[in-house]
Amino acid sequence: MMTSDPVLEDLNPNHIARQQFDAALAYLPELTVCPGMADWLFEPERIVKVALPVRLNDGCVHVFHGYRVLHSTLRGPGKGGIRFHPNVDEEEVKALAAWMTLKCALVDVPFGGAKGGVACDPRELTPYEKSRITRRFIAALGDNIGPYTDIPAPDVYTDAQTMAWVYDTYSMMHPGDNNLPVVTGKPLDLGGSPGRAQATAQGSLFAAEHYLELGGSPELTGLKGATVAVQGFGNAGRNAARLFSAAGAMVVAVSDSKGGIYDPGGLDVSKVEVHKDETGSVVGLEGTKFLEAGEVLEVPCDILIPAALENQITAANADRIEAHVIVEAANGPTTPAADRILNEKGIHVLPDILANAGGVLVSYYEWVQNLENQQWEEHEVLEKLRRKMQRATERVVTKRVALIEGHAHYQEVLRRRDPEAPEMPVADLRTAAYVVAVGACSATATQRGIWP
Ligand code: GLU
Repeated sequence: MMTSDPVLEDLNPNHIARQQFDAALAYLPELTVCPGMADWLFEPERIVKVALPVRLNDGCVHVFHGYRVLHSTLRGPGKGGIRFHPNVDEEEVKALAAWMTLKCALVDVPFGGAKGGVACDPRELTPYEKSRITRRFIAALGDNIGPYTDIPAPDVYTDAQTMAWVYDTYSMMHPGDNNLPVVTGKPLDLGGSPGRAQATAQGSLFAAEHYLELGGSPELTGLKGATVAVQGFGNAGRNAARLFSAAGAMVVAVSDSKGGIYDPGGLDVSKVEVHKDETGSVVGLEGTKFLEAGEVLEVPCDILIPAALENQITAANADRIEAHVIVEAANGPTTPAADRILNEKGIHVLPDILANAGGVLVSYYEWVQNLENQQWEEHEVLEKLRRKMQRATERVVTKRVALIEGHAHYQEVLRRRDPEAPEMPVADLRTAAYVVAVGACSATATQRGIWP
C-alpha cells in the first residue's frame, strides 16, 4: 500500500470514514442538534473477531485472524464482502462496513452494511489452503451471518469460488433450509446472478457515463475517445478496463501489485488480459512502457479509475494527478487531504459509495432471486442496474448543486453555533453523496425511533 507523510495525514481508514461522515453533518442540522444520534449512525453495531487455526500444506498450523463487522441493520440486513489481504485489521473492516451502509442507502437498496476479512496473503496460498481458511472462518462466524441478518459477498482477493465455499460451509451447518441467500457473488451454477461478476465495473461505467451526460465535466462530453488509466487489475479494475474500452474509451495505462504499463496510443485490453493470465501480471506486455507502482495514477488521462485499495491518492501525490474525472471503483482510495487538493484543482471525484455500488446492487438482485427461487436474464439485471446507478448519480449531482447554492446559509448556521467556525469548503461530490446517504439513514432512524 502506498503511504503518505504520517505527520500530514492520518491514514486509519476508520478515522477517514468518520471525517467524511462528519463533513456531511454540517448540512444535516437534525443530527448536529443531537450528536448522540450521529454517533449511533456511525458506530458499528457488532464486531466479531475470530482466531482461525488452519493447517497449511507444509503440515504446520498457522493462526489467521478474521473479522466481521456488522455496521448497521437500520435499513435492512447487513451486507458486504469478505476480503483476504495482509492489511486486513479491525479498523479497516470497520471503515469498509460503514461505507457499505452508506453505499446501500445512497443507491437505495434495503440493506444495511457489513464487511469481513481475514489477514492473510492469498498470493502465497494454494486454492486448497484458501478453501480451508474460508471454511474455518465461516464456521467460526456461525450465526453471525445469515440470509436475513448479514450477507457476505466477494471483495479483494475473494471471488465466486470463495463464495461457493462460504455457501457450502454455511449449508452444512444449516441442513434443510434454502441457504442460497446467505451469500452473494456465487457461481452461476450455484444460484449466482447473471451480471454479478462484472457488476462493480459496470456500475462505475453507468455512473461515469451518466455524470458526463448530465454535463458534470466541461472537458468531457462522453466516454468515446476519452483516455482512461486504471489502477488495479482484479475484478473491478480488469472489468473496468474491458468495459470502458468497449464503450469507446482508450485505456492508456493499467497496473497491478507488481507495477503498471503505459501506452499513450492505447492498450489492447484483450492482449493485456491474456498477458495477465499467462504471466500473473500486466507488467511486461510487449510494446508498453513500465510504470512503477503508483505512477499509473499520475499519467495524463481524462478518467482515472482507482480500482485497488484504500489510501492511494493522498496529500503526497494528489497534486500530481492530471485526470479530469476520478471514478472510485475501489473503496476508500482517496484521503480527505487529497480530496481538498483535487477539489481545488477542479478534478471531479465520483466517490466510492456511488461509483462502486454496482457490485452490491447486483448482489441485491441475486439475493432477491435466491429468496424467490427465480432466475433473471442478464439484460433484465443490467437494465435495473443502469437505472439505479443513473438515479443515484442524479441524486448526488442535484444535492451538490443545492449544497453550493445554500453555502452562505449553512456557513451562517455554523457560525451561529460556533463563531470561530472556519470557512466551509465548497461541497464536492463525496460530501453531496454523504449528505444523501447519511440523510437517508437519519430519516430511517427517526421513523423507527430508538428502542425501547
Ligand atoms: N465487496 C463489494 C463492495 O465493496 C460488494 C459487496 C456486496 O456485494 O455485498 O461493495
